[in-house]
Amino acid sequence: MSDMGLIVVGAAGRMGRTLIRIIAETPGVTLAGAVEREGSTDLGKDAGELAGIGPNGILLSDDPLPLFAKAEGVLDFTAPKATLAFAELAAQARIVHVIGTTGLSTDDAAKLDAAARHAVLVKSGNMSLGVNLLAVLVRQAAKALDADFDIEILEMHHRHKVDAPSGTALLLGAAAAEGRGVDLGSSSVRSRDGHTGARKRGDIGFATLRGGSVVGEHSVLLAGEGEVIELSHKATDRGIFARGAVKAALWGRDKKPGLYSMADVLGLSKG
Ligand code: NAD
Repeated sequence: MSDMGLIVVGAAGRMGRTLIRIIAETPGVTLAGAVEREGSTDLGKDAGELAGIGPNGILLSDDPLPLFAKAEGVLDFTAPKATLAFAELAAQARIVHVIGTTGLSTDDAAKLDAAARHAVLVKSGNMSLGVNLLAVLVRQAAKALDADFDIEILEMHHRHKVDAPSGTALLLGAAAAEGRGVDLGSSSVRSRDGHTGARKRGDIGFATLRGGSVVGEHSVLLAGEGEVIELSHKATDRGIFARGAVKAALWGRDKKPGLYSMADVLGLSKG
């Protein structure tokens, strides 16, 4: 089979640059285009140079249409509004759309469901093998222990991150809720401030730290009477998310239209 042509949108971002580097290192895929937002000062720059791997002749463009028409997949770590627009274009072009963008609302998710009727979408708040395995372990632990064990999810990211809790923290919260057989939306406490009253039994709590250049650290604590179980993951290199995204695109190449998760890609969905 010929190489899969992939477009990186948000190409000048932290993840965009990492994706360009990982595509160059990965057999079976080629960079078919690099897209940035209108007005970006990086438009017209060479994608390879931006990614620190030397020039590759692909210049950053703000016109995705002609690129989507001739590629097989798009890797998207941008922002919710941009991701919705790219989902429409990917659905029209019938190409695989890998979505790493976090901070999407429930309304946004419904719009992605509509796009998934026409194209393969793989969406995950975390594309790494380690975090998806951690989610399986969290689901099992939450299932094995009853609500005498309070579940709290702690995360830390670099100072530039704009959404909280992180997509990964929410993914881990969803795994805990699934293990417990409860709905995350009605059981989660996403922040605490002032006189909050005592902790409610069965709540799934979130706490957020921001600072420095931390790529991503997550801990799920199951705190019982006299003992605490802690399940953690530390990301030290954005390459893990980029490799996961490329893997998801290759996996999605021969799949039927639909919305898939990274757990599907990694074969971890039934655990
Ligand atoms: P970043 O701000 O460094 O990069 C985002 C880039 O997207 C910017 O260069 C921005 O100009 C570009 N962009 C915004 N709107 C655009 C548009 N309409 N068209 C084209 N480009 C557009 O952020 P980042 O640290 O790279 O993270 C990006 C997203 O990915 C965030 O939501 C983050 O939480 C998420 N993320 C997910 C994972 C995962 O595994 N799922 C891992 C890391 C980061």
